[in-house]
Amino acid sequence: MTTSVKIENVTKQFGDIIAVDSISMEIPDGEFFSLLGPSGCGKTTTLRMIAGFEQPTYGELYIMDKPVAGVPAFRRPVNTVFQNYALFPHMTVEQNVAFGLQMSKVPKADIATRVAAALRRVQMEGFAERKPEQLSGGQKQRIALARALVNRPKVLLLDEPLGALDLKLRKAMQLELKQIQSDVGITFIYVTHDQEEALTMSDRIAVMNNGHIAQVGKAQEIYEHPANRFVADFIGETNFINGTVIESAEYTTLESNGVLFGGVARTQLSNGTSATVAIRPEKIWLYPADGDVPLNQRVALDGTITEVIYIGTDTRYQVALKTGDTLIVRVQNLGSEDVMAFKTGDSVNVQFSADNAQVLTE
Ligand code: ATP
Repeated sequence: MTTSVKIENVTKQFGDIIAVDSISMEIPDGEFFSLLGPSGCGKTTTLRMIAGFEQPTYGELYIMDKPVAGVPAFRRPVNTVFQNYALFPHMTVEQNVAFGLQMSKVPKADIATRVAAALRRVQMEGFAERKPEQLSGGQKQRIALARALVNRPKVLLLDEPLGALDLKLRKAMQLELKQIQSDVGITFIYVTHDQEEALTMSDRIAVMNNGHIAQVGKAQEIYEHPANRFVADFIGETNFINGTVIESAEYTTLESNGVLFGGVARTQLSNGTSATVAIRPEKIWLYPADGDVPLNQRVALDGTITEVIYIGTDTRYQVALKTGDTLIVRVQNLGSEDVMAFKTGDSVNVQFSADNAQVLTE
């Protein structure tokens, strides 16, 4: 399979600031790949280096297997879609979309056909004569997308393209973008700080933190098996129980504040290592502490309910564990009485399966 973009030990420094710190990754042709991370983690800088707007301080970049060091932005087989649309205000929609083709001297008849096809692709065929100021935000972003796609780039770079849209439109456009990408079949590299957006659209996601890549994987991999505490915390909601490894055999036993808890997933950690158990709120069972507590090879811990919030789809319980940690537990509203089974002050037994818990050391 062709690699559309390969990044090899790339670092970017702006004076004393290391914006991107020796990152490497390979993005196969046709993939929807997202760079996800908090503000300032280096996503945009990475995208701008691929586009050719910035040069790496160290390292090599390849597009379609060719090194691109020294190749100016306009000669790279890539196009960028920006959050602020960057449409030419004095030109009509049609002229905006045609601009790149005119610059590369495509014959006039071909331009008309390709512009019409690009506008159809983004469902804006009736808007050719309008000026950008006569369009809504979502419509402007569709035109920006058509203007990039019409050039048939090998790689489309998208820098928070839906950031300025309201939530409902953003969600609708996420699905449309995913559909367009799968129809045109080119590589999309998508920058976002919105984890749900990345999970919804991407084939694979690189989670970035502080100029580094914290983990690369499919949505399900990074959600179910976060490689470290940063990823576990950034992607979705996670509970952490901090402890020390007491025994590591088929399962791991940890100790926290004098409380032993066993049955956590197998690790290779030696005794005495500090470790954190990460468990998602929706993967925890709650039982009354004085009732009949089933124990099917699950991790079990005692605690007290400190908060109950009913949020319709589920109930969100906060539990103070005897380990000293606080857990959030989500009980899905299946329509039974169980959804509000506990109240503040109740003693509970908290359980989760070893398979759903990650033991993390960083
Ligand atoms: P955001 O989501 O806020 O856009 P980001 O992850 O895209 O963040 P970058 O824009 O890549 O982050 O910035 C990474 C770091 O590099 C930040 O600390 C930023 O301040 C710094 N930086 C980016 N561009 C420059 C520049 N031209 N000169 C100096 N520092 C810069």
